[in-house]
Amino acid sequence: MGALLEVKNIETYYDLIYAVRGVSLSIEEGSITAILGNNGAGKSTILKTIMGLIDDQPDKGSIEFDGRRIDGKDTEAIVRMGISYVPEGREVFEELTVRENLLMGAYTRKNRKEVAGDFDRVYRYFPVLQQRQNQWAGTLSGGEQQMLAIGRAMMSRPRLLFLDEPSLGLSPILVQEIFRIITAIHAEGVTVLLVEQNARMALKISHTAMILENGRFVLKGPSAELMEDENVKEFYMGVR
Ligand code: ATP
Repeated sequence: MGALLEVKNIETYYDLIYAVRGVSLSIEEGSITAILGNNGAGKSTILKTIMGLIDDQPDKGSIEFDGRRIDGKDTEAIVRMGISYVPEGREVFEELTVRENLLMGAYTRKNRKEVAGDFDRVYRYFPVLQQRQNQWAGTLSGGEQQMLAIGRAMMSRPRLLFLDEPSLGLSPILVQEIFRIITAIHAEGVTVLLVEQNARMALKISHTAMILENGRFVLKGPSAELMEDENVKEFYMGVR
């Protein structure tokens, strides 16, 4: 069986400066993959490129999802095909309620009955969102907004979920909680691609990991092996 996502040799630039320089990656269905790297390495740009969120790029490389080319397609079509994206910094609609935010996540869906079932599913993962369903999203705490952003992405019923720095700015307890939920979502059959600066947690829950430096992968391998790698320990886990 081929990979669920196959990215070959993509390049992305901003204002003539390349942020991603010839990146290839392959994601197996049913896996959790982590992309690690420091600030500005280009991690978010990889996710945005795959989602079709960056305009005017050179026609280089290819991106296949489930055996079909998606490079050049618009974001809505990509979401409809089964990839969903939780951006860094949550970006919830602050002046909509929690429930309305979740409904926005279902915009590609037609079957109202199924969507109703998906609300229940999201509320099972995040009971606090049900308690706060009629509250404005802007009144939620940072951790709750992160939960809402993940819940909203789940409303499109993704086969592949992209998470950009889900632990950013959260307390250690909330970080644990978010990673526990990511594991639970994965256990229900969703393939996960995770971008993180928290290398320790990301390596713990992922099967495969890749280290990005200056827009290029410098190391790829099973997460358990990367956890033991001296360079990874020193530069990404703060161990000497
Ligand atoms: P972070 O954790 O800070 O998001 P990252 O690894 O995700 O880091 P990117 O956000 O992908 O990195 O950024 C890669 C490079 O591209 C950085 O040098 C950044 O300054 C630059 N960059 C990102 N977005 C833009 C933009 N919209 N316009 C111009 N340059 C950008």
